[in-house]
Amino acid sequence: MTETNLVDAAGAVIPAAKLEEFVKKVFRVVGVSEKDAQITARVLVQADWRGIESHGVARLSRYITGIQNGLINPKTKLKLVKETKATAFFDAANGLGQVAGHQAMNYCIKKAKKSGAAWVAVRNSNHYGIAGYYSMLALKHNMIGISMTNSRPLCVPTYSREAIIGTNPISVAAPADREQPFVLDMATSVVPIGKIEVAKRKGASIPLGWAVDKTGQPTTDPAAVLEGGGVLPLGGTAEFSGYKGYGLSVMIDILCGVLTGASFLSLVEKPVDGKPAPANLGHFFGAINIKSFRPLKEFKKTMDLFINILKNSAKAEGCNRIFIAGEKEFEMEESRRKNGIPLDEKTVSSLKDIRNKLGIKFLEF
Ligand code: NDP
Repeated sequence: MTETNLVDAAGAVIPAAKLEEFVKKVFRVVGVSEKDAQITARVLVQADWRGIESHGVARLSRYITGIQNGLINPKTKLKLVKETKATAFFDAANGLGQVAGHQAMNYCIKKAKKSGAAWVAVRNSNHYGIAGYYSMLALKHNMIGISMTNSRPLCVPTYSREAIIGTNPISVAAPADREQPFVLDMATSVVPIGKIEVAKRKGASIPLGWAVDKTGQPTTDPAAVLEGGGVLPLGGTAEFSGYKGYGLSVMIDILCGVLTGASFLSLVEKPVDGKPAPANLGHFFGAINIKSFRPLKEFKKTMDLFINILKNSAKAEGCNRIFIAGEKEFEMEESRRKNGIPLDEKTVSSLKDIRNKLGIKFLEF
């Protein structure tokens, strides 16, 4: 069955370039510069072509509403707050997270070319989408890229019933020679909140161990999670070592929130006087120049060997393939760039809504 068959009757399959052009136009109309609109559109559409629909164009309305309500500044201008040979720290002045992340990661790569490795932090930013977009920028410079952000609180600490930690994602990308690069890109919660919302919409139950209700007890009812509960940290309950995911999430928030002076834990997106307030998110990026440690060719060849040992290990009964993080996404990317991006009915309807409200004469469905 092709992906086209899988799309709802009222959904659509859109060529990647056309979708990107549409998203870019949308950002232009709400006051984003040509260059920044291009970057933001690329980050969103890249999520879709890699099969991460939860963080692609389905979220476009969130950014547009944020700009229109004055919660996100459409003119992203990074201010350098502090710099050393191997570090830099920027204030994004409440601009778009995608633009702030793109610029900060590129700055990090530039510094790592001179210093061997570099770290760049950002405060006062907004939701930056998929963490993997930024780590992967390092690949073409033959570096290992690292990207992290904190996020709004949706996840409960181990033994708590209060959703006060973010789903704080982390991504690490490392190049190989003939093999696809390793690209780990993951939330530090068992699942993103989107999966709970989807289950509720479908009237389905969720697996025990994904989330808790408002009393802090594991539940299979998605509505009970959305009404005062929260998702569990990576691993799940304490019996499944969920405290490790809890620790990872906190580590990311220390780097993105505490170290930068951005918001952290439940202070992220906390309303002020009952009204929505700017998110003040923090991001943290790293670039490691491989040549600082080992000849590049040697590293890449060893990565191939490393990947092959993993992939050729004995398969579990009933399984015929072992994957490397990022592999499925590269395959999805190849197919979607060629055949177009399938969008479900709800996403198509939200894009139509944006198009009609902003009066953009582009993208027929
Ligand atoms: P997934 O659970 O789908 O995947 C996590 C990682 O595991 C990916 O690198 C994936 O690579 C890899 N993986 C999956 N299956 C296998 C397998 N069988 N073998 C080896 N590796 C595997 O991702 P999440 O739901 O955790 O996150 C989805 C996205 O949401 C990410 O892009 C993340 O950055 C983003 N996010 C953003 C937030 C924000 O606030 N900005 C907050 C939370 C999440 P592959 O898919 O290629 O197999």
